Amino acid sequence: MSFELHEECGVFGIWGDADAAQKAYWGTFSLQHRGQESGGLAVLDHGTLSVDKGMGLFQDAVPVKNRRGEAAIGHVRYSTTGESAEVNAQPLLMHTRFGPLALAHNGNLVNHESLRRELEHEGAIFQGTSDSEVLAHLLARSRQKEFQDALMEASQSLKGGFAFVLLTSDGLYGIRDPRGIRPLVLGRTHEGAWVLASETCALDMIDAVWVRDVKPGELICISSRGMESTMFHESEGQNACAFEVIYFSRPDSQLEGQSMHLKRRLLGQKLAEEAPAQADVVVGVPDSSLPAAMGYAEESGIPFDFGLVKNRYIARTFIAPKAEMRSQGVQLKLSAVTEVVEGKRVVLIDDSLVRGTTSRHIIRLLRRAGAREVHMRIASPPYLEPCHYGIDTSRAGELAARNLTVKELAEMVGADSLAFLSPEGLLGALGPQGWCLACFGKGYPVPIEEDVHAQ
Ligand code: SF4
Repeated sequence: MSFELHEECGVFGIWGDADAAQKAYWGTFSLQHRGQESGGLAVLDHGTLSVDKGMGLFQDAVPVKNRRGEAAIGHVRYSTTGESAEVNAQPLLMHTRFGPLALAHNGNLVNHESLRRELEHEGAIFQGTSDSEVLAHLLARSRQKEFQDALMEASQSLKGGFAFVLLTSDGLYGIRDPRGIRPLVLGRTHEGAWVLASETCALDMIDAVWVRDVKPGELICISSRGMESTMFHESEGQNACAFEVIYFSRPDSQLEGQSMHLKRRLLGQKLAEEAPAQADVVVGVPDSSLPAAMGYAEESGIPFDFGLVKNRYIARTFIAPKAEMRSQGVQLKLSAVTEVVEGKRVVLIDDSLVRGTTSRHIIRLLRRAGAREVHMRIASPPYLEPCHYGIDTSRAGELAARNLTVKELAEMVGADSLAFLSPEGLLGALGPQGWCLACFGKGYPVPIEEDVHAQ
């Protein structure tokens, strides 16, 4: 369920705007939901590249102040590879033979361990433990004369789900993995500056317009020559992360021009068709499951209401990635509204069920507030396999649906009934573009290395 899944990161970049530093600040700030452990901003001001970064929420890590610069990149982070430590906060700033380089990454390289071993064997010294540094060392090792050629060559060695933005004194660069697993969009301000971002909500924040999604396997180079596109890898077909639609992306964002809010409503409608329930009220787990709950209510004719409310003032300690803090955090995050659920048969809609511990807690909250029956409906299929492409989902042994039948799961979470959306229903709502459904047991689109499998 939503509190049990964490996006790894969000990235932002802008080139050619007199107010680039401020725009990058607000663009990155709008991606805060993609990572709350650390944040940073790299700014290019008259050829000098500098970085501000730290631990915690973006506005704590990077103080609001008047920054000047003609280009900038930003990053928010939630670690899945590498510890939650300041040394792993991004953008990383490196001094290479191409000059200073800042780099920010979203995703996970499935071959980072073998690449790192190979690079260390050749003498590379890593500053941190995150997999993002691998690209910087591959660039440093390249014999190419031009930075863009070195980036092209280095990108070809990377495997997994990834989106990088890089900034040098000559240009802003963006790369997206050959399967298009992690998102990256290209936008433009009204003044003509180019923008790269994990989500379109960051474009809206600075009043820029969406131009298109970066293609799988594409390298974007933005410089004084304008915007150039090259493919560093032939397209292997798209496998965009289905969880960006189910939960991660902000509801006001668009993926491939499709509204996340409307897609989530459609997931709820499909769920109502497939898994009806006899009930008096539909309640969604706030905030991410509310559109699916609305869709379920529309299709079933059962009224929707706000039976759960979220406490918005939780200290950030409780969204830290340690397991014991997670469960403590959930207890403080939600309350049930007695007037909505007392004496009622409730359909509880959640976007996903991963470990099941938070679902159990929420159902207990509803029963304490007087709910007569609780029928849980999940707007995605059972979560069966861990993600290796940049989403923190926990290890295979902790995935509840992998180890229990649906009936046993219902008992575990304390629901009167439980049902999931089918993979066919999910695909019906997502549409014809190719999707990654690996966590639903449909196979990993990029093969996983053995040592990663063992984790
Ligand atoms: S395995 Fe699941 S969470 Fe990971 S990229 Fe694929 S769809 Fe997204």
